[in-house]
Amino acid sequence: MKVFITGGAGFIGSHLCERLLERGDKVIILDDLSTGQMDNVSHLMGREGFEHRVGSVTDVALVGELVDRCDVTVHLAAAVGVRLIVEHPVHTIETNVRGTEVVLGAAAKKQKLVVLASTSEVYGKGVKIPFSEDDDLKLGGTQHSRWAYACSKALDEWLALAYWKEKKVPVIIARFFNTVGPRQTGRYGMVLPNFVAQALAGDPIRVFGSGEQSRCFGHVRDAVEAVIRLIETPVAVGQVFNVGTEREVTINRLAEMVRDTVGAQSAIEHVPYNEAYAVGFEDLERRVPDTTKLAKVAGYRFTRTLEQIIADVVEEQRSRLALR
Ligand code: NAD
Repeated sequence: MKVFITGGAGFIGSHLCERLLERGDKVIILDDLSTGQMDNVSHLMGREGFEHRVGSVTDVALVGELVDRCDVTVHLAAAVGVRLIVEHPVHTIETNVRGTEVVLGAAAKKQKLVVLASTSEVYGKGVKIPFSEDDDLKLGGTQHSRWAYACSKALDEWLALAYWKEKKVPVIIARFFNTVGPRQTGRYGMVLPNFVAQALAGDPIRVFGSGEQSRCFGHVRDAVEAVIRLIETPVAVGQVFNVGTEREVTINRLAEMVRDTVGAQSAIEHVPYNEAYAVGFEDLERRVPDTTKLAKVAGYRFTRTLEQIIADVVEEQRSRLALR
């Protein structure tokens, strides 16, 4: 198949490109290189079946052309990362909503399949653990920029499902939970790459808040495999899927695991949220996906362990440091 990936030079996008090309599929990516970088896909340049364009997902003519040339669009381009979202809420809302409008509008012309990247953030402050796809969404107040990301992605979901119901555009929604692995940048507030960089430098590992909040970290290679299985599952159309793993870890424990894997002596420091982000920043204690639906409908479960993820990220950062 031929796949158009918006945000293809990003973290998840670059792994998806790699896996699709490995399978013999063809790929076109479009990226404005705002949080992604050509470095992520430079090893794919010149490979048969790989094409890249630098530009914005809000460019109606360009997106229309690329959607037309492919069988399926995986829409990953978005403003991502807690720091970026809190500091640039206008950019976040405009990129996430407008980009999705353009992709769905283009797909509607010939009823092309779209996979929309959504997020576990849409569950907001939900306390029923684990989170199931049909649960109510409980977002925080509009005075907190953090929720603009969740709300923009929730609106993307509404819009995608509306295109399916009203215009018969086939859509599949993937709600990614914390997806981590090699090539993820720590620049916009992602926890694991930052912890690994701090440990490798022998600096203190900086844990925001009490560190007793927990997350479920899934390997990016499992996440892209899940996306491919969803594309190949006709009954997935018109449905929402949690994409992640149930294995939960506190951020304090994650910091210790990183320190042990690196073999560093780093202290673990706690930084209050008000210092790390804006005053009044709200975080969530737990965020665990119910992954039954992904397993039942698409036949896929994440298999890679947290130990393996940390080892892969450490190895990648060590080899980057060695190249400097
Ligand atoms: P990323 O920042 O590496 O990828 C996003 C890509 O989109 C980047 O390459 C960026 O340059 C590109 N982009 C941004 N605005 C664009 C625009 N206007 N036009 C073209 N390209 C643009 O982040 P990622 O982690 O790979 O995220 C990919 C998708 O998955 C996003 O939609 C994100 O919301 C979603 N997601 C990721 C996670 C995670 O844990 N990584 C969790 C939930 C949801």
